[in-house]
Amino acid sequence: MELAKVRNIGISAHIDSGKTTLSERILFYTGRIHKIEEVKGGGDGAKMDHMELEQERGITITSAATSVSWGGVLSNHIKEPYHVNLIDTPGHVDFTIEVERSLRVLDGAVLVLCAVGGVQSQSLTVDRQMRRYNVPRLAFINKMDRTGADADKVVKAMREKLNTDAVLVQMPIGAGETFAGMIDLVTMKKLEFQGDQGTDVIESEIPADLLEEAEAYRHAMLESMSMYNDEMMELLLSEEPVSEELIHKVIKDAVQNQGFTPVFVGTAFKNKGVQPLLDAVVRYLPSPEQREIKARKVDDETQRVLLKPDTEAPFVGMAFKIVEDPYGQLTFMRVYQGKIAKGEMYTNQRTGRKERFSRIVRMHSDEREEIDTAEAGDIVAIMGIDCASGETYAAERDYCTLESMFVPEPVIKVS
Ligand code: GDP
Repeated sequence: MELAKVRNIGISAHIDSGKTTLSERILFYTGRIHKIEEVKGGGDGAKMDHMELEQERGITITSAATSVSWGGVLSNHIKEPYHVNLIDTPGHVDFTIEVERSLRVLDGAVLVLCAVGGVQSQSLTVDRQMRRYNVPRLAFINKMDRTGADADKVVKAMREKLNTDAVLVQMPIGAGETFAGMIDLVTMKKLEFQGDQGTDVIESEIPADLLEEAEAYRHAMLESMSMYNDEMMELLLSEEPVSEELIHKVIKDAVQNQGFTPVFVGTAFKNKGVQPLLDAVVRYLPSPEQREIKARKVDDETQRVLLKPDTEAPFVGMAFKIVEDPYGQLTFMRVYQGKIAKGEMYTNQRTGRKERFSRIVRMHSDEREEIDTAEAGDIVAIMGIDCASGETYAAERDYCTLESMFVPEPVIKVS
């Protein structure tokens, strides 16, 4: 697996903004679940318990980590397949070790906001946590079909309350009952979602009656973005056209360097906007190869060990979640450095005990795939090892530990 084509992402949201619905739609559009039944009545208040949903469909929506692929025939824009690991991020209000662990395994995230509720208390918390850990993020304004939906208002609230320079990169077409899709402000194409469950993304020219508004939105978008890029600023000042390529570059730079946050719109529930969001995840969020992580030395906690996503370096991984299931204990692990192979022994850095990784699996929503090896940047589950959440494993004894209690050890960006 090519590291540049891996994305480890989390979806974060205030409760009820649609995190579960969006995750489920992602599984659907990536071909991992084959049927979506509309929840009775739809919309607010018709919520089915997640466990009920899972049982009914025989899938795991809220698994600790689920692997999907995006691109190729599934996408209009991303030509080659990418491997996306969706990691469940607890939406805790407090800064707990569990939140810290889950943020550590992410390379990027999607912050879901409700088009009516906007920035809510938990949105503030998750945003602050992500910022603290330097997790690059995109925002998705969900529930555009609800009465009172207002994307501009949510963007304004993001700027004021999250202190984030939020920039709409799509213009919603209508809102509430009339919400019909969006204009992609980068390509200046109208996006509509047709076919069963909105699977076909139809791109067409902007109709005459929307052109003026779309141009105004695009201009506002470019003006905001040009604050972060001199080349774009010069093009705007001289009234020259700005290429799609340059816009993609500016967005990517901003996302990965804590500049502005690009904002997408849609309705997870009504199947609009999810595929363009997946394109954006692949385009703008970083791959594991762009990240290095600082760990501590086991025998001297003041000393740091820099972990690189290099498959030739000695293996280091962290168990970030333990799940009990009928077949035994599943230990979800992110491989930070080096690689692991089925049947080999690795050392628990806290206890010094060696354990055999006899089975390595990749978790999909509907099946588990047994694999022989996993490399730096990957997220897999190890079956049958006995450990606690937060433990670090390495090829060598006393190599390093990734657990840092409550002291955040920010991820370092490699330019
Ligand atoms: P979570 O708590 O963030 O995981 O939110 P859920 O995905 O469980 O969604 C909460 C409620 O909002 C459920 O009743 C969903 O059916 C509903 N919902 C999710 N997305 C949308 C949407 O795009 N539009 C509308 N109207 N309702 C939605």
